[in-house]
Formats: sequence, structure tokens, C-alpha cells
Amino acid sequence: MSHFLVHSAATLLLQLVAQGQLDMEGALTARDRVGIQDFVLLDETTEAAFLSNLKKRFSKDLIYTYIGTLLVSVNPYKELDIYNKKQMDIYMGVNFFELPPHIYALADNAYHTMLTEFNNHFILISGESGAGKTEASKKILQYYAVSCPSTTLLNTVRDKMLMSNPVLEAFGNAKTLKNDNSSRFGKYMDIQFDGQGDAVGGHILNYLLEKSRVVHQNHGERNFHIFYQLVEGGSDDLLHQLGLERGCQHYNYLTQNTFRNSVFSMFIVSNRGILLINYNFVQHLFEVIASVLHLGNVRFDSDSKGHALLNNNTELHWVSNLLGVDAHRLQEGLTFRKIEAKKDQVLSPFTTDHAIYARDALAKAIYGQTFTWLVNRINESMENKDPSRKTVIGLLDIYGFEVFYVNSFEQFCINYCNEKLQQLFIELTLKSEQEEYEAEGIEWEPVQFFNNKIICDLIEEKHRGIISLLDEECLRPGDATDLTFLERLEEKMGNHPHFVTHKLADKMTRKTLERGDFRLLHYAGEVTYCVVGFLDKNNDLLYRNIKDLMCQSKNDIVKECFSSMDPDSRRRPETVVTQFKSSLQKLTEILMAKEAWYIRCLKSNESKQSGQFDEALIRHQVKYLGLMEHLRVRRAGFAYRRKYDVFLKRYKPLCPATWPHWRGVAADGVEVLVQHLGYLPDEYKMGRTKIFIRHPRTLFATEDAYEK
Ligand code: ATP
Ligand code: MG
Repeated sequence: MSHFLVHSAATLLLQLVAQGQLDMEGALTARDRVGIQDFVLLDETTEAAFLSNLKKRFSKDLIYTYIGTLLVSVNPYKELDIYNKKQMDIYMGVNFFELPPHIYALADNAYHTMLTEFNNHFILISGESGAGKTEASKKILQYYAVSCPSTTLLNTVRDKMLMSNPVLEAFGNAKTLKNDNSSRFGKYMDIQFDGQGDAVGGHILNYLLEKSRVVHQNHGERNFHIFYQLVEGGSDDLLHQLGLERGCQHYNYLTQNTFRNSVFSMFIVSNRGILLINYNFVQHLFEVIASVLHLGNVRFDSDSKGHALLNNNTELHWVSNLLGVDAHRLQEGLTFRKIEAKKDQVLSPFTTDHAIYARDALAKAIYGQTFTWLVNRINESMENKDPSRKTVIGLLDIYGFEVFYVNSFEQFCINYCNEKLQQLFIELTLKSEQEEYEAEGIEWEPVQFFNNKIICDLIEEKHRGIISLLDEECLRPGDATDLTFLERLEEKMGNHPHFVTHKLADKMTRKTLERGDFRLLHYAGEVTYCVVGFLDKNNDLLYRNIKDLMCQSKNDIVKECFSSMDPDSRRRPETVVTQFKSSLQKLTEILMAKEAWYIRCLKSNESKQSGQFDEALIRHQVKYLGLMEHLRVRRAGFAYRRKYDVFLKRYKPLCPATWPHWRGVAADGVEVLVQHLGYLPDEYKMGRTKIFIRHPRTLFATEDAYEK
């Protein structure tokens, strides 16, 4: 028998209603008042009906609605009193559809399915920038941390998992025009559970941090939070030690942006024990952050020949001090390039532009490497040492689709990543679901949907896709530039329906494009990318002499990071986008091997205001996220399916004819079993290898009987 408690749904509902905590949703009057909690039960499947239901619920602060087992969430932009311990208790162990929709219900169901079926799961949280993905992932983590059974010993793993969030957010999130706390890296976190359901370990995979933000931010945006937390909230002593002035106005790398600044929480200091980061490392971490700020203030003049000269020695000395490297060699590294000619080494002077480039490259490299180092430390501290078999729930929270006035290489990578996740969603729901009905011989009315594979191919196809062409230009010796890359694109992509440039466009469209732009028609909308910087950012070159110098750093973090960077420095490292592409490929494989749960986050308005339901904006998201198609597939389809033997094995005690053993074909046993349970003919279908059950409530009744 399952060891967890399944409340009697009816009793619980009545209790809650009596306590005034719950509306009687589902009753006709409530339905009029607060809308329907599962879109599958809507009378009509029009977009208008969908939006009106969403709006009605949003106006009552009911931000969650189901489409079957998929959770739709609309960002309320205000704190709702629905994320407390009491709410967690209400949702614990209760079947999905018995209570109003909640993110806890989804988290709880994934958890209990994992325990009963002893398999792995993942929760895919998607939506555009600012839609609420990171908040959702935090709510889920908190739910597991608070509500799973626990022993005091294991609590530390949870503390570590919870603590990892603010640390990584400080280093990896920043204010953008779309979101004050925008994730600038992708994060996939496995939470490992033992057979009793205790959280026993965790592991994070991080994806492509937007390093360019360290040295440059667009108007109205900010650098990563940690810099401001340090220069505005660090103690006088600490700032003095690091040679820093209080206030962001002193630093070229920091924009002065009005923002409700988070007070420097010193979380790293106070929680280093939890995260297994020792005091020396905390000190080194601050030195790294400070060295980046000082680097940004290093300036260059040019001499009569146009060669770069250091303008101010003080800043350089702080950098060399904090990083523990020789000041002279650092200066040399920032103003000269070392060229190896046969056995000799020649120093070739930089122009000022070149020196600035080398300086910024170093700042980005230090910060990016340190971020990965931090993730590794956190992983070590959350590692589960017990070798017995574990099941996991993976949480995926990445940067959402984004379109700015000017879009560059970073947006290209972020939007490509979203395109891949949309493709995964399509593969796992719309496509495979329909293919499965066909394979199982279930009668089925096909639902049309837009498959974004065509855009994924345009971007990533071998030899022909945008990524391949970009890499070719990056690796081509000689005169390759951002513009020759654009020309190559035009040659190859000429008449692709999802690609256009100034040259290729018709008269009308041409007016909206600059000469250095290319435009992609993504699944989520058009994005115009400016090619400037694509080659540099994709190459992400760091000069060899600087790299070698960093390997000798006395700062343990820097030394460790740069030494492990690229042992064979003669071999050309993979380009940024190619590394990103293969990490996304690996991620897809990790996810495909697990059972999927989906949260689709919608942004309610562009101005981050509570109570505003921007209908046009939401309609657009509903459309591109494929929610209507998903609803149609769900409505016409079957919510639950299981292999005959699995189904029979679990429920055979419920029927005298199948208990303790059914001697015969599993499918026949299942038929006898469901007849005995009184399933109506319309409620289920028998496929070739699986039983398909239309409504979850049918299964819940069976599950309740089993529990009794
Ligand atoms: P990005 O792709 O830029 O990282 P995101 O989807 O992760 O975006 P979040 O950072 O989760 O977006 O949400 C943006 C902001 O919206 C939050 O900082 C918070 O103010 C608000 N918000 C999101 N979800 C909720 C919620 N459930 N309740 C209250 N406020 C929320
Ligand atoms: Mg986020």
C-alpha cells in the first residue's frame, strides 16, 4: 500500500468550504463567478472563451487554471496569500482535480507519481521573460523542502537547495527592460529523492550565462545584482579591503539605475557553512567581483603611433592585487599581444580599441568562470553520497523568450533555446500524443498545430543552419566580419519563409529593416537581430598570455577556473553557440528520459502592474504557446494511459477475478477489472498495449478504492 495519506476529497472540500477558504468551484454559480478551473471542461473551445475564463479568474486573483494536467499561470505582479504552510498542507497527498488549481497540486502529483511508480519526472516551466518562471520554480522547491517527510539529518540538503537560489540569483540575474529580476542563465535542477520520498540530494546544470552584461548593459538595464549588492550594501571594512568606493556611480561597468536595491544580504557569508564554501573562498569571491569592477575602470590612452597606453595605474594595481597576479605582466597582457613566431615570442602592441576589447574579455571570462565555479561548489555541497537508487524530479527554469529594440547574439541564443523547448513540448504532447493514438489503434480526429521544427532546423541544421554558417565565418581565416556572415546567410537562406534581411525583403518590409539586420520569424513572434558583434561574441577569445597569467593567480578561485579551462590551448575551443547547441541537445536527452509536467507562464502586462490583464498580450502568448491546440488534443483525448501489465499489477486487488493472480493476457485482465469497477464504455478505450482513460476522475475513484 502506498504510505502517503490520501484525504477523502469530499470531506476535505466540505471542511474547507465550512472554513470559508474555498469557493465551491464547479458548482454552477461558482462557475459563473470564478470561471472554470480546468479548460477541458469549458463549453466551447474558442480562443474568446479561453481568454474570458482566464480573465474572470485573474480578476479574482485565481492565477492558476488547468488544461488537464498542464498548469497555466498568469503573473499577478503582487504577493498573493496562497503560498504558506497551511496551503501546502491542504494540497499534500490530494488528487489533482479535487482542489482548486495550484502549483502545489502539480508539484505534489509529480512527487506522488514518482513515489508510486518509482520513475523520474521533470517539470518544464516556460513562458516569456517576466512571465513568472523563476518564481514558479522557487515555489515548487519550497513545497518539496517544506512538505516532504524529513529527518533532521536530511534537512541540511533542503537548506542547501533553498540557499542555492538567492546565491545563484545574485550572480546570474539582473534587471532588464522586461523583468527586474531576469534570469540571465539557464538552470536545470534535479532534486533526488530516496524510496521514502526524502529529498536526499540535488544537482544543478547551468546554461550559457549572458557574460556580455558584465561589461555592457543597454539603456535602462543593470549589471548582475551582486555588483550592486556589494558596492551599496557591503560593510565599510569590506569595501576598504577591496579598494571599492560606496555607490555604483564610481564604476564604469555599472549603470546608475533607480531600482529598489536589495540590501547586501551577506547571504554568502552567513550561509557559507550550508553551501560548503569556506571563509577563504568567500573572501576570494569578493575579490573576484571587486577585480571586475576595478578592471572596468582601467582606461587607455594612445601614444603617437596609436598604441594603447595605460591611463591610470591605481586601478590596475587593485586588479593585480585582488587577483594575485603580477602587475607588470597584467599591464603587458592588456596592451600587447604575444605572437609566437617559430621559437621566438614577439610582442605586438594593441590599439586602444583592442586593449579595451582585451580588458572586457578578461572581465567577462573571470566572471563567467567564477559563476560556473559557484555552481560546482553548490553541487558538491548538495551531492548525495548514498549509492542506493534514487528517483528525481527535474526543474527547468531558463531565460524566457525576449525581444528588445535592439537584439544581439545573446537574444539569438536565448530565443533559440526557447525554440528548442517549444519543440520538445510539441514532440512530447501534440505530436507524440497523436502518434500514440494512431499506433495504439485508437480512433482519433487529428488536431492541426504549428510545428516549429522548421525554425529549429533553420537555426541548427548541420552545414546549412545559421549556427553552422556563423561558425564557418568565425573559423575562416582572413577577412571574415559580421557583414560577411550576413552575406553568407543571405546566400543560403534566400527564400526561407522564416528568414528575411533588408536585401531580401519586399518594399514594405524593407522599411522596417536596417542593412546590418536579419529577422527571424520565431514561434513566439518576429525578432530582428543586429549582426554587429556576432563573430566576436561567438568566438569569445581570450588572449593566451592573459589566460596563462590567470593560471598563476594567487586567488584560488581564479587559479582553479583558468587552469581547468582549456588544457590544450593550441586547440581551438568550440565556439560559444556550438557549445550551447550541444548542451541543449544533452538537456533534451535528459528530459526525454523522464515523465513530463508542464507549467505555462503568461505575462499579464508589459508594465509589471498588478491587476492589469492586457488581453492582446495574453492572446498572443496563448496562441504561440500552443495552448488552444493543447486544449483540443486534451479534450478529444485521454488524460491517462498505462501499459496493461502496469495497470493490472497495481489495481488487481480490486477484483476477485484478478486477485491474487490473473492467468491470461494482461489486456483481458484489465478488461475484466474495469468492467468489475463499473467503467462506462465511453470512459476508456483499449489500445494495442495500453488502456486509455478519458477523465482523471475515473482513475481517482479507482485510486481511492485502492487506498481503502
Ligand atoms: P525571465 O525569463 O526574465 O527570467 P521569469 O519568467 O523567470 O523571467 P520571474 O522572475 O519569475 O520571471 O517573474 C518576474 C516578476 O513577476 C517577479 O519578480 C515577481 O515580481 C512577479 N511574479 C512572478 N510570479 C509571481 C507570483 N506567482 N506571485 C507574485 N508575483 C509574481
Ligand atoms: Mg527567470
